[in-house]
Amino acid sequence: MTALETLKRYFGYDGFRSGQETLIDGILAGKDVLGVMPTGAGKSICFQIPALMTDGITLIVSPLISLMKDQVNALTQSGIPAAFINSSLTGWQIDKALQNARNGAYKLIYVAPERLLAPDFLQFAQSIKISMLTVDEAHCISQWGQDFRPSYSKIPEFIASLPKRPVLSAFTATATSKVREDIAALLGLNEPIVLITGFDRKNLYFEVQKPKDKYAALTAFLSNKKENSGIVYCSTRATVEEVCEKLKKDGYNSSRYHAGLLDSERHDNQDDFLYDRVKIMVATNAFGMGIDKSNVSFVVHYNMPKDMESYYQEAGRAGRGGEPADCLLLYSGQDVRTNLWMIENNKDVEYPDKETEELLKERDRKRLREITFYCATNDCLRGYILKYFGENPPNYCGNCGSCSTNFETADITIDAQKILSCVARMRERYGIKMLTDVLRGSKSEKVLRLGLDKLSTHGISEKTDKQLREIINQLILTGYLIKTDDEYPVIKLGERASEVLRGGGTVQMKLSKEKPQPEISKKQFSVKQIDNRLFAALRELRFAIANEQNVPAFVIFPDSTLIDMCLKLPATKAELLSVSGVGQVKLERYGERFLKVIATHAT
Ligand code: ADP
Ligand code: ZN
Repeated sequence: MTALETLKRYFGYDGFRSGQETLIDGILAGKDVLGVMPTGAGKSICFQIPALMTDGITLIVSPLISLMKDQVNALTQSGIPAAFINSSLTGWQIDKALQNARNGAYKLIYVAPERLLAPDFLQFAQSIKISMLTVDEAHCISQWGQDFRPSYSKIPEFIASLPKRPVLSAFTATATSKVREDIAALLGLNEPIVLITGFDRKNLYFEVQKPKDKYAALTAFLSNKKENSGIVYCSTRATVEEVCEKLKKDGYNSSRYHAGLLDSERHDNQDDFLYDRVKIMVATNAFGMGIDKSNVSFVVHYNMPKDMESYYQEAGRAGRGGEPADCLLLYSGQDVRTNLWMIENNKDVEYPDKETEELLKERDRKRLREITFYCATNDCLRGYILKYFGENPPNYCGNCGSCSTNFETADITIDAQKILSCVARMRERYGIKMLTDVLRGSKSEKVLRLGLDKLSTHGISEKTDKQLREIINQLILTGYLIKTDDEYPVIKLGERASEVLRGGGTVQMKLSKEKPQPEISKKQFSVKQIDNRLFAALRELRFAIANEQNVPAFVIFPDSTLIDMCLKLPATKAELLSVSGVGQVKLERYGERFLKVIATHAT
């Protein structure tokens, strides 16, 4: 079976997403790999498919007990033999699992990092064939990351004690270049294939509001989302309590989660949310690590988080199944003060010395400034986020609060002509700064020395520096200009330049309005035309099956699969198999029941 056939057979998907194939092919060729992909991009499949295609066992080191259980549930539902070994099992259960594993009962075994060097586990690992070791949430090995886990440092020792070194694959959603280098070096990856996919999550709609009354803004936002599942993040336990209480009073099916609750209540509330018994989870940022729920359709931040990293990670828990989802941040000036206070009074961190303390606090203050700018900007919000993570996005995404209100289509043909002819006159030899300087008529020493003030295009633009950069960026993205890849990039004419220079062609782009409207209106997604009654019936069936199987509903099928059923209206098992997310085993197990519901509604 090929990787693609394996994907279809077990997971029911027709094709790989960007990046998945590269990593899978690499692993199958016996290479170490490092995958850096945003949450929801589909990292798990990158090691699960090779695990199925090689003989021997794949061990997955994962820091999160709740996530292990979900993943093993999901694999089992798809007909893939898997198990987990962590502190939630009794000694007897662990013995039993290891014994089964020795007899070849599992292809994948999830294990907590603390367990690796335990004598019984080590002995087991040395006695079987481990074809791959996967390190999930690999950034936990780096002290530079936010979630350093000392037990991750033991992984190399574990590998060294194995009779044969397995292929290593490491995955993370959050990694700056520093953390990336750390992962490769500390795990001892051997010339790994490193794949970093874009951080863009196209299905997420971003919006920032600065309401006088946050609670009113929240309920306005929730008013048409009664059926949807979502998270409301608050910065303090007290706010969680207050908001959750109010929502309950107002008839919302909500629950709460923060570190001040008893373990048992936290656990129950989390399960209620996972199993769709509760729709809205009001929580501090303690909630969500390892929540692998694919049908979260919104994430509201009731308070501004401490930095963009946290924000994007938390907001990214929405829309993991690929459907459109909303990320709303409710900002107030008080949020900045609260965060500053927390930086100054952080009790969670012990600083080794005064100097480090100041350094780290300054870093945190800088990060706080960056997210405050995010809340204040009129520019495209997605663009802001992606730039923050080092990408070069277009200035208009069309799917965020700014783009839907602050932008208008402008004819920039004249500006484009001016810019392109200036690039030509400057003989395609200079960077963007010099280009804008000349266009704006700068008399700087450098401009004069190079004689660029003599060019006929010197000073022909009345635009501001920022506007010019926006237009130039757009011209680069649309092929009128090229920015070279050098250390000092140079602007050159692109393939399409002649269209404009010869005259005739027009160029349009979305430009930010000079005076943005203060009121941010909500953009509505165009909802696919599906039979809502059928969708509701399918959800009901899924809920019933999930209860029988004692797993969360999305483990049976994600929403995207139910939606695809509504669109394709399959009448036979073969047709049902063509629905995205329906694999062989689930077809056998649940196919008939779903077909029956579809048949009764389709008439
Ligand atoms: P990550 O671990 O990167 O956060 P997951 O592995 O949990 O993401 O995948 C997120 C969702 O995307 C899951 O519901 C998964 O089944 C789905 N998915 C992964 N790969 C594909 C694919 N090739 N086609 C369709 N859906 C996919
Ligand atoms: Zn945008």
